[in-house]
Amino acid sequence: MAESGQVVVVGGGISGLACALRLEQLSVPVTLLEASHRVGGLIHTTEQDGFLFESGPQSFQGTEALLGVIRAMGIQDELCKADPRAPRYVLRRGRLLRIPMSPQAILSTSLLGARARWKVVSEAFRRTTPPSEEESIAAFVRRKFGHEILEYLVSPFVSGVYAGDPEKLSLSAAFPTLTQWEREYGSVLRGAMKSRGGDRVAQSTPPLCSFRRGMTTLPQAMAAELGERVQRGASVEAIERANGPGPGGFRVRAAQSHAGQILAAQAVVMAAPAHVAAHLLAPFVPRLAHKLSGIAYASLAVVASGYYKKQASVPLDGFGVLVPRSEKHRTLGIVWNASLFPGRAPEGQMALTSFIGGATDPEIASKSKAEISAIVQRDCEQILGITGSPITSAIWVHQKALPQYNLGHGHVVEAIRDAEQSVAGLYFAGNYLEGPSVGKCVERAFQVAESVKAYLESGVVTRAD
Ligand SMILES: Cc1cc2nc3c(=O)[nH]c(=O)nc-3n(C[C@H](O)[C@H](O)[C@H](O)COP(=O)(O)OP(=O)(O)OC[C@H]3O[C@@H](n4cnc5c(N)ncnc54)[C@H](O)[C@@H]3O)c2cc1C
Repeated sequence: MAESGQVVVVGGGISGLACALRLEQLSVPVTLLEASHRVGGLIHTTEQDGFLFESGPQSFQGTEALLGVIRAMGIQDELCKADPRAPRYVLRRGRLLRIPMSPQAILSTSLLGARARWKVVSEAFRRTTPPSEEESIAAFVRRKFGHEILEYLVSPFVSGVYAGDPEKLSLSAAFPTLTQWEREYGSVLRGAMKSRGGDRVAQSTPPLCSFRRGMTTLPQAMAAELGERVQRGASVEAIERANGPGPGGFRVRAAQSHAGQILAAQAVVMAAPAHVAAHLLAPFVPRLAHKLSGIAYASLAVVASGYYKKQASVPLDGFGVLVPRSEKHRTLGIVWNASLFPGRAPEGQMALTSFIGGATDPEIASKSKAEISAIVQRDCEQILGITGSPITSAIWVHQKALPQYNLGHGHVVEAIRDAEQSVAGLYFAGNYLEGPSVGKCVERAFQVAESVKAYLESGVVTRAD
């Protein structure tokens, strides 16, 4: 049996690691159980033929919380920041057009027609109120800005963040600040300006970051800091309440190298994907488990390829390109890794990462890797004018890549908050709660750690919000 008073964190992705690390900093005894033999979950860097490829996140926004973790781990010298002026492109009628990043750029962009441009800049002067019913992102954008903005700016962006379907994603769950700004100011542009200070929006956004040796640097450093408190290859198979309903802690059963172990814990933090949490919690919170299992996940294939620079007919000098559905390609977007961060490709060569599938094209996940690679290669040819085959490539098909904050998601999050209040010592961290980005996962994990600490000290349940 483990020492009493300890906390078990289930899952060693960025959420679980951040939570365990914060608990450790708060002097709370913690054990993190990770099913796989490596930590990081969706964060995973590989080196292949001199290229550095990422199968999950390519970068992260350097929020204060994340930069704090990086400093605490002593890996700030490994950090690379992308040039904030690096252009991002959207494909329209086969041409790469820059995404406008300021009100002035919106007025002059050739990405949008005159009517759409006017709709955007005049939004600040049109006061509206949110409808009483929950609204999809698509419905919101059509109502406020019109179809062209949805098609050429918002839908591609939503594919980039959620691999999601804007017709199904809930505005209030996926982008709560937009709902709040419309409610408070009648206009999202006015809300953005008030909260960030005029047209300095682009400058005030945290920088895009990665590490010299790739994203894996972060989870590996966190796991190294936690040392023996991280158990790899420890798949949690069951969680029981030690004394039935009411306070008294948990027994956590994990399988490890053909053996089993049971840990006693006063608090458990579920930091595994929602469907895993649903399975583990079904015996004692069946209604919540049912809701958790109802969270849809989009599948997504990631194809990383190395080319000679001379194989591209356009200079790939920015972040990458987003591809609207109406352009009739299956690729959702391509990141030009080597132009963002150093050390991604050997001299004279470049690394590209294509994303394909998502909630609007689920069929991709049932195709073979060879078929997916062929589609991506053809799209790269047509979109970027790439000629010839890649020097090297790698492909990952994530069957459950990203949770979808679809209409009704707010009710699931509310049910999770209720469970945190009614089941003493049970907490949730993960990318299905307050945003899927690495930064949001870390922020949520930190809040949970603080709540766990408060709970252990007082015996009173506190919510992680
Ligand atoms: C292709 C892709 C690209 C992305 N790009 C970006 C990006 O550019 N920027 C950004 O900020 N975000 C990006 N994201 C989102 C971000 O990477 C994820 O939301 C985040 O990493 C999720 O972390 P997590 O710890 O919540 O979950 P996971 O990373 O899914 O970790 C969960 C962990 O739980 C473990 N586990 C599961 N079952 C058990 C069990 N029974 N017992 C013990 N452990 C278990 C798993 O093995 C896993 O390690 C991207 C995501 C994907 C898929």
